[in-house]
This record gives sequence, structure tokens and C-alpha cells, in this order.
Amino acid sequence: MAKVAINLSTGSLQQEEIIVGIDLGTTNSLVAYIHPETRQPVAINDLGRGTIVPSVVYFPQGGETPIVGTEAKEYLLTDPQNTIYSVKRLLGKSYRDLGEHAQDLGYKVIDDNSEGMVKIRVGDRFYSPIELSAEILKELRARAEHALKTPVNKAVITVPAYFNDSQRQATRDAGRLAGLEVLRIVNEPTAAALAYGIGLSPDEEKTVAVYDLGGGTFDVSILRIQQGIFEVLSTNGDTYLGGDDLDRAIINHWTAQHNLNSLLANNVPLQQELRLLAEAAKRYLSKDDDFGANFTENLVLRLTRTEFNELIRPLVERTITSCRQALADAKLTPQDLDAVLLVGGSTRVPLVYDSVSEFFQQPANNTLNPDEVVALGAAIQADILAGNRRDVLLLDVTPLTLGIETLGGLMDPIIPRNSKIPTKAGRQYTTSVDGQVNLKISVYQGERDLVKENRKLAEFDLRGIPAMPAGLPKVDVNFILNADGILKVEAVELRSNTRQAVEIKPQYGLTDEQVEQMLMDSLTHAREDVAARMVIEARTVAEQMLYQVERFVEKNSLHLTEDEITETAAATERLRESLATNTKDTILKAVDELEELTRPFAERVMNISIKQAMAGKKIE
Ligand code: ADP
Ligand code: MG
Repeated sequence: MAKVAINLSTGSLQQEEIIVGIDLGTTNSLVAYIHPETRQPVAINDLGRGTIVPSVVYFPQGGETPIVGTEAKEYLLTDPQNTIYSVKRLLGKSYRDLGEHAQDLGYKVIDDNSEGMVKIRVGDRFYSPIELSAEILKELRARAEHALKTPVNKAVITVPAYFNDSQRQATRDAGRLAGLEVLRIVNEPTAAALAYGIGLSPDEEKTVAVYDLGGGTFDVSILRIQQGIFEVLSTNGDTYLGGDDLDRAIINHWTAQHNLNSLLANNVPLQQELRLLAEAAKRYLSKDDDFGANFTENLVLRLTRTEFNELIRPLVERTITSCRQALADAKLTPQDLDAVLLVGGSTRVPLVYDSVSEFFQQPANNTLNPDEVVALGAAIQADILAGNRRDVLLLDVTPLTLGIETLGGLMDPIIPRNSKIPTKAGRQYTTSVDGQVNLKISVYQGERDLVKENRKLAEFDLRGIPAMPAGLPKVDVNFILNADGILKVEAVELRSNTRQAVEIKPQYGLTDEQVEQMLMDSLTHAREDVAARMVIEARTVAEQMLYQVERFVEKNSLHLTEDEITETAAATERLRESLATNTKDTILKAVDELEELTRPFAERVMNISIKQAMAGKKIE
């Protein structure tokens, strides 16, 4: 049973567990959740400070607790040594990975050991990028707890699709340091697609491009979404290209235009002011055409949209080159894409929108707030993990379907692939032959319709079922899959309470490649599987029909005419022959014929039986 808590501010009952979605960005971070009433993702805006938390950590002199966000950002130029930004670039990296880029940062990156993970020196203390990222996450967590008035202990955190294992692990560790159980690390483009509603329905198949131009990084990913699986077909980008470069282009333009070099030299506040003005101009030009503002007493800085476009055109061109490469790597053309999704604050720049739409030969989708889309998608993912959207895939899921063999060697799925674990599911079966006292239960893993194509995990007999006519025993088969992926299969015959159980570890012995291969096989063979399943189902119907008709004739020969018996025997024979054709339609036609023929006797015999029963006689 789920625990509930009372929200003290509203007096309403609420779910105790809230799982938030977090976009831990290079420039900006956000936290979002699913609103319990509207069921829509919402970015958290605590105390009206806005939804965006700049990913900047400032350590005030004297060692008090660090400051995170907009306030910290103000120290970037005045106290750069103690103001840490872009820490995401350092996550999970060694000094060697960073190379020359280490010098570009305003703070000190330490290389005590070039193979080990980088450290950042602030005053006389050393911090790992994990600790610094944790400070940002703590701030997001605090804002969420304050705004939602409930403890927040669980989160889904996004990372770029190109993040390697070490960077993902570092992100996870940062979450843990911030007191968050990280239920899942999600790719940013996957989150973006989810926010746009793509991938929420299991039978949907889409190929999309996600173009993400943020503050300091650019990446483009081509995703294929199929049956709830988000596959990254390719990614490309430039981890040193973003909105900051657009700002710099404006600064350089104004500096050259007005000979500002000597004025700016050694004047940090003035540099700061110019930088802010450049960003303001850029944002303004996303909506309007002419920007003008005072800079120092007697200077007005101006910029038109057209001038701005010319300044940034080479930068935007570089992103298009990446898109071209990503598309080529995915072996696709623009026509293959169902959508192009825009992510990241810098995609508000009209030239970016136009260039992307032109390259992909379709209007890019920018209907969601590009700052928030990743966090919103992460919140949706969190909601899926919370078990609120059962039809959507998720991790900590079982990678392959678990099921048992039924008549005709068919796979009967009990726990579908991608079911969230732990989970429990069951189904009721019966016997197919009169007096059957044992039921063989064979457990399989895989996506194919025929068990022989899947992997057998276990087999056991449920013994000691009391002899009963076929169809009468009720056998409950339950699959219990625990959080560690251990499967327990229980079978109980309900009328006699005969039971049997086995425990299996489904993952055991399967490498990731094997799991992938099994999934691939199920996709490539889907069509033939469906055909084979239909034949088998027809055969099963036919076999049960034959069994019943023969038994019926045997028991009721007294009530049937000689002709009826011969005709039935002939139709039975035709049905048996049809089985040899292995063709669904032929088999089902013969089934129909036999049924047509026998239905009148069956009704007649039933009437006789009822009359006899009413007369107090025993039916046999
Ligand atoms: P990241 O994902 O790298 O943390 P964001 O997606 O938050 O970054 O993007 C931040 C960048 O978006 C900044 O460079 C900011 O100036 C830029 N940006 C935000 N709004 C606009 C706008 N209206 N026009 C142009 N650029 C914008
Ligand atoms: Mg981002």
C-alpha cells in the first residue's frame, strides 16, 4: 500500500513520494514535477524567482555555505576564483581529458594526478566536480521541497546523450551527495522527446532530430522511438559552442566598432556590463529588429537583427554541419524525420530556427519553452518510474518478456518486456485433457511468439492435480519479479490447493549484447511470428474441437442417427486432413464445417439431458 502524507499548508492528503525531474545543465538547471491534479509537467518556480537556476556556485570568503544560482552568477567577474560555473564540463573527467580547455576557466583546476579525476581549488579547499554539482542539486532539491511543501528524496536526472559511463556515474554520485536517490539517468534528447509527447504510446514509431543549443554547448541527436524504446541513432555537436559564443560575437563587434579595448582593459565591472548588454541585445533581437542602449556616459551601442545574423552566421553554420553529419551517420535523409525538436535557450534566435528548419526541410517544433523542455521530460520520466503511466517503457525494467509455454508451443507473455521491477503478474490456466494430473510449466524469456525461439529459463511440473475433466482445474500461475531481477514462479491449482514454486534469475548468463540480439530478432522476425502464431492458434482450436467432438460422439451415440455419426466422422476426418496443410484459413474453414454439422445434435442432446434431469434422472 502506498503511504500518504498530509500537506500541512493545504490540509490535503498527498502522495508521500514525489519524484522530481532535473535538468542539470552546463549553464542553467531546472527542476520539474508532475502536477498531481492536472497531471501535466510543471517547472518549479519557488518564491517567484523563476524556473531557471544558473548552474553557478559561489563560495563566499570565510567558508560559509555556498550560494547557488542567479546570486552566485553576479560574482563571475568580480570574484572569479571563488565562482564555479560550467562544472558539468568537468564531471567524470580527468585532467588529461580536459587538455587545453582547463585554462579557459576562471577558477583553478588541479592536476595532482593526470589520470585521476579533476579537482577544483577554491581558497584552501579542493572540490570534486561531483561535490560542486551536488551543491546545484541541493539547491534544486531545496526549492522543490519548499515549493511543494513535501520532502523530495528521489529524482530522475538528465545528461547529454554523448555522456560516457564515468560521466553518468558521476552525475548519479552527485545526486546521492545531494540526498537524492537517482532512479534514472536519462538522455536529454529522450527527455525532450517525451516532453513533446513522443514515445508515450507503445505502438508509436517515430524518428526525430533533437537540436539542442544551450549556453556553452551544442548537440544534435537523431532518435528512433519504437515500442517505447528510445534508440540514439547518432549524435554530433560541439561542446564549446553555444549562446556564450553569440554574446562574444556581439562584444567583439562593439569593441572593434567603438575601439573599446583600452577602455575595457583592467576594468572588470565595465567588462561585466558589456557582457550583460550583449546578452540583452541578443535576447532582444530574438523578438525585435533594432537594439540600442547606453554604455558609459556618451556611447550608445546599437545592433540590428540583420547585423546580428551576419555576426553569428558562421557559428550557426557550424551547428548545421553537425546536423548534416548526424543525419549521415544515422543513414537518413531529412524526409525520414517525423519531427525536429528544438531545445535550449539559444534556439530562440530566429536565424537558428530558420537555418534548422531549412536544413531539415520542415518547420522545427519550438512550441515548448526551450529552457524547460528537458526538465519537463525528466518529470514525465519520473512519473513513469513512479508507476503512473504503465504503458510506457522504463529502466530498472525487465529487458525481455517473461512468459510460459501454452498449447502448441506458443509463448504466453506474463510479464512484458520493459515492465518496471519489482512487479507481479499472473494468469489462470486449465488442463486440455480429461483426467490430467500433472501440468508442465515451462518458463521462457524473449520476444518471439514461439517458445522455441526464446530462451528457456526453467521447467517444472505441478503434480497431484486431482483428476478432473479437461477445462475444470483452475491453475493460477504467478510471476513475481523482485527488484534484483529474481523471478519466482508459483503455480497453484485452486480447487485442490496443490502448489509448486521455483526461483529463477532471468538475467543470469545473458550479456547485454545477447539481450540486444534477442530484441533485434524479435523485431526482424515480427511478421513471420505473427503468421506462425495464427496457424498455431487455428491448430489449437481445431485440436480442441476434435477432442470435444469425439468425446461427444462417444458419450452420446445412443442419441445420434447412423447418418449423423457417419457425417460427423467424415467432417472430423476433413478437419484432421486440414491440419496437415498448416494453413490458417483452411483449418478454420474445416473447424466451421464441423461446428455447423454438430451444433444441431449438441442442442438436441442438451435438451434430452435437461428433460432427463427434470425427470430426476442422473445424466450420463
Ligand atoms: P544549458 O542547457 O547549456 O544549461 P540553456 O538551454 O539554459 O543552457 O541555454 C542558455 C542560453 O540560452 C544562454 O546563452 C542564453 O543567453 C540563451 N538564451 C536564453 N533566452 C534567449 C533568447 N530569448 N534569445 C537568445 N538566446 C537566449
Ligand atoms: Mg541544456
